[in-house]
Order: sequence, then C-alpha cells, then structure tokens
Amino acid sequence: MALRTLASLGSLAGKRVIVRADLNVPLRDGVITDDGRVRATLPTLNALIDQGARLIVASHLGRPYGAPDPKYSLEPVAQRLSELLGKPVAFARDTVGVSAHEAVASLQDGDVTVIENLRFNPGETSKDEGERRAFAQQLAELGDALVSDGFGVVHRKQASVYDLAELLPSAAGLLIETEVDVLDRLTENPERPYAVVLGGSKVSDKLGVIAHLLPRVDTILVGGGMMFTFLAAEGYPVGASLLEKDQIETVKGYIATAKERGVTLIFPVDAVVASSFSADADHVVAAADALEDTPYGSSGLGLDIGPETAKIFADAIRGSKTVFWNGPMGVFEMPAFASGTKTVAQALTEVDGLSVVGGGDSAAAVRQLGFSDDRFGHISTGGGASLEFLEGKKLPGLEVLGWSL
Ligand code: ADP
Ligand code: MG
Repeated sequence: MALRTLASLGSLAGKRVIVRADLNVPLRDGVITDDGRVRATLPTLNALIDQGARLIVASHLGRPYGAPDPKYSLEPVAQRLSELLGKPVAFARDTVGVSAHEAVASLQDGDVTVIENLRFNPGETSKDEGERRAFAQQLAELGDALVSDGFGVVHRKQASVYDLAELLPSAAGLLIETEVDVLDRLTENPERPYAVVLGGSKVSDKLGVIAHLLPRVDTILVGGGMMFTFLAAEGYPVGASLLEKDQIETVKGYIATAKERGVTLIFPVDAVVASSFSADADHVVAAADALEDTPYGSSGLGLDIGPETAKIFADAIRGSKTVFWNGPMGVFEMPAFASGTKTVAQALTEVDGLSVVGGGDSAAAVRQLGFSDDRFGHISTGGGASLEFLEGKKLPGLEVLGWSL
C-alpha cells in the first residue's frame, strides 16, 4: 500500500499544521556543524507556506532523557531555519505548554514557529503506551493536521512519529516521500550489478542488513570498524581494533551463505594501523592478514582501510549500476584516517546509475570531505531508518502513514 502524500490532506490554507521534522543536527558549542537535515525539510515547509498553512515545526535533538536541558535546545536550529527560509521563525520555549500555545495562537497564514525539543518530555519516547498517547494528545491540541517528514525517526514508535499520526489527519511530507521512493528502488528490482558498501562503528546494528541483503545484491564490500569482525572470522589477528567477538560465528555464517549464493563478499586486503586512537598517532599500512606485524604489535588499531583496499572498493563501486553506502570506511574525522572514505565517496560520484549514501556520519563525512550533495543520486537523512527499511522491517512511522511492503 502506498504512503498518504500531502495532496491527500486537501487544502491546508489557514490550517494549523504540525510538521514532525528531523532537525537532529550535530552541534558543537551551540553551533550547527552540518545543517543538511534542516535543508532537507525546506521543500515540505515551502510547499506548506505557499499553501498558506500555519506551521508548527516539531523535532527532537540529541538524547535529553525526558527533561529540559539547555544543551539540547532547538533555538539555534530555529535561527538557522529562519535564515534558510528567508523569513522570521518564532520559537516556543516549551513543547506543549503555555509558550507553545501562545506561539501557535499568534500564527498568521504562512507563518512558522518551532516548538522546543520533543524529547524534553518523557512521553515522547516512553515505552508505556498510555504515557506516550497522553503526550501525543497534548501535541494534537496544537494542530489540525500532521505532516510527518522526519525520516530519521520513522523506525521509532514514538509519540510524535506514531501516535500523533493516528490522532490527527496525517500524511507524509516530501522528504519522506523521496526517501521511500529511493529506498524502494534499492529493494524492488534494482539495476544490476548492485553493490552495498558497509562500514562505520556500529557493527552489530549493520550485520542484520547483511543477512537481508545477501540474497538481493551482487557484491557486499565491508570496511570501517566492521571489517575487523570479518577478518577475525577468517582467523586473522586484529590487534586492538574494533571487534565484536560474539558476532564472529554470525559473520562466518554470512561468509558461507555468500559463497553458496554466488554473492561476492569483499573485505579489506590492507588497513591503516595506528599506535593509538588520536589524530596525530603514528601509523603504517599493514596487510589484512598481518595487522599485528607492525611496530605496535597487538596494541595497534586499524583506523582506515588501506590504499590497496580503497582501490579494489572503488573499482567495484564504479562497475556497479546501483550502489548503497552506509558507514565511513575509517575514522574520517581525523585527516590521517579519512582517505579510504574519500576514495569510496569519489567512486560513488562516478557511478553510472543510482548511488545512495545513508547514515548520519556518512552524510556528514561526504560533506566534510568536500563533496556536494548533488554529486550523489541521493543522500538519505536517516541512518537507522534506511537500514531497517533495507532489512525489510516494518517501520511504525511509515505504516501509520499507509505504507506497507
Ligand atoms: P553512520 O552514522 O553513517 O550510520 P556509524 O555511526 O555506524 O555511521 O559510524 C560512524 C563512525 O564510525 C565514525 O565516527 C567513524 O569514526 C567510525 N569508524 C569508522 N571506521 C572505524 C574504525 N576502523 N575504528 C573505529 N571507528 C571507526
Ligand atoms: Mg552514526
């Protein structure tokens, strides 16, 4: 079944429309370091402003554990949104309290207000259905309709994502519509060869996606922190590199299944091994089967794929018609360990077909390394959400908008 889109809500002129966005941007000392997620909401907001709707923008930011915490205030995000929209944006100092109600009451057609961080309220993420519902009910009082556009949270059964969509007339915004279109192309009849590149640090999170994608893809490339669990499964020592010992058996199973199904599973032939986890650490390139044969012995840390691996990965990527990439190839935040990620990103820009980047850190990495968004087919705003979509899981925030696989 298909998603309910904006058109299904009819005319929204003069209506109070809650837009559940994902404005969970990275902040350093109160300054936004990557405003990609704010930019991603602009098409929906502009479409609603053009219709003369009165917008109440709601989002979470960080993990403030159900109580107000100035560190996670959405105020700087509201300011940035105002700059990007080129119009004033009001800010309510609470989410469903007096300030929010006042801000909503003073909205004129086409006006925008941002309400304070949803997660300052325990009901937003509560596991207790009653508590969650009660908070959603309070949110529902602020608006006449809900436009759900926070793709990064659609895999969460949370008050503003799930319950609120049942309480008010609701539909997907343009961002969710685009995300679902693109991810659907990755699952239904992708153009072949189809390659998936996985990296990053959350190894066990990403192993699930391998299991689901194994029967669907032609090639899986494994880099980032995850590679060491694969190398360990092959019997190689990995020093002090990131390793999930309890996943080694699972990974062995994947390697066997890949062989049976004729899926090419490529993991690194070399890595950049460092003496410690720091930007100025000494480092050398070591062969994947000899990671401890460096001056740092068993205390060496693999922090990037090696140059030979990067070349092999880039060739496999360029030779594919469909590529999905999630997770940096190394600790790209430190320039000495960014080169594998950069080579992979460059190869994705050269794909003659559909290239998709998913994941918060992966998206931040390509921007930080100087690639503009338009060089990729699509940059997904949701890491966990896009992985769960590709795993074929039911996503509550999409199902509630009419979507089903
Ligand atoms: P995404 O947000 O794109 O889904 P993750 O959150 O899984 O990606 O992982 C991103 C993090 O992985 C980055 O901060 C990066 O430094 C880290 N990382 C990548 N390779 C390694 C490695 N070899 N060892 C430790 N951390 C790594
Ligand atoms: Mg991340």
